[in-house]
Amino acid sequence: MKASLEAIKAAALAVTPGPWEAYGTIVRDIDGGEDQLAEGRDATHARYIAAVDPEIVLELVARLERAERERDSFKRALLDAPQIPEGTVCKGAMLLGSGCGRCRRCREEMGAVA
Ligand SMILES: [Zn+2]
Repeated sequence: MKASLEAIKAAALAVTPGPWEAYGTIVRDIDGGEDQLAEGRDATHARYIAAVDPEIVLELVARLERAERERDSFKRALLDAPQIPEGTVCKGAMLLGSGCGRCRRCREEMGAVA
């Protein structure tokens, strides 16, 4: 990912907090009266801008950070787990939730093997 989550968070915290709403081509703060925050090229663009207000962006960043921590924790646990003999693979698939998590193929699916 090229975007810095810290830069995205800083940008979201620097502007009027949400929720925002689209009013025609105008985007405004729902709780802040009639102040215009942005203007979309058309109503569709205004609805999009309002849909990704700072509150939503901060929630998405938090969810991504939490998911990355869980992934990293799972990878560490996978690396620490006892391995089964080289060449042995289970019939499951990690992406389907049926993998053993210990054979080489499952570990590769989880990115635990270079
Ligand atoms: Zn397996």
